[in-house]
Amino acid sequence: MACREYDYAGLLAETVARHRHYAAQGEVASYIPELRKTDPTLAGCALITPQALYEAGDTRYPFTLQSISKVFSLLVALEQRGVETVFAKVGSEPTGDSFNSIVKLETSEQKPLNPMINAGAIAVCSLIPGDSVEERLGLVLKLLEKILDRPVGIDEHVYHSEQETGHRNRALAHFLKDIDCLEGDVDEVLDLYFRQCSILVDCTDLARLGMFLAQKGVTAQGEQLISPHLIRLVTTFMVTCGMYNASGEFAIQVGIPAKSGVSGGILAAVPGRFGVAAFGPALDKKGNSVVGVRMLRHLSQALDLSIF
Ligand code: GLU
Repeated sequence: MACREYDYAGLLAETVARHRHYAAQGEVASYIPELRKTDPTLAGCALITPQALYEAGDTRYPFTLQSISKVFSLLVALEQRGVETVFAKVGSEPTGDSFNSIVKLETSEQKPLNPMINAGAIAVCSLIPGDSVEERLGLVLKLLEKILDRPVGIDEHVYHSEQETGHRNRALAHFLKDIDCLEGDVDEVLDLYFRQCSILVDCTDLARLGMFLAQKGVTAQGEQLISPHLIRLVTTFMVTCGMYNASGEFAIQVGIPAKSGVSGGILAAVPGRFGVAAFGPALDKKGNSVVGVRMLRHLSQALDLSIF
């Protein structure tokens, strides 16, 4: 007799319906002007089991990866340059500061604390090999395209918007160059960073990316793209640093390796089980989607997803 799957579709629909109104408690990121245009009331969540994709709400609305890209550029840098080279330039400790803070660069051990904050991610970008920005970005896009099994592009408007206004990231990058944590040309590395942040996805893509991590680097087509060792490394960073300086609270409330971005997406991976994703552009003070965090907490409780 065939075993019936749990009513995931019903759970997701109920989750979106019950939590969408929390958007009123947050604000859409405005420091990248182009992001300001997003409707704050959008909300969606998606879950992938080994059998099927389930989704509810605004799961097909395109948005940019922003900080979620840091997970995949880190995988590319680790794969291409090796663990030792990467961790010579970036540390592995969480920070209590905001994602774009500059303060610890000078006061701590003279390298960015971890690859999930902007300073660390910019240092990691500088390690991605290639003769041009296009070639280097191509390595990140190729990884995403293999996982998602479709062509992947960037949102040119968001890219230009951040390029024109990303003065704090420029300051971080120049500081990194000064302390020998950034390889190559500062402007080229920043260009790569801004472009990777502008990669376009939707909520279902995030769930697929989560499933890839949950399956220890194996694609839906059964190809082992990244070694389980490197996947373990990045998912550990997701637990300790993936939700900015709210990672500790998220670990207690939700307990799933996750990474969020300022456009409102959250990618989560339940090891060996599911890829889960949430989207809601209104953010809390720490930069996490208000609705997204609440929806993931609800799903974690309903399905007993905490890894702890
Ligand atoms: N592109 C954004 C920035 O560098 C990414 C920040 C984020 O999503 O946390 O400010």
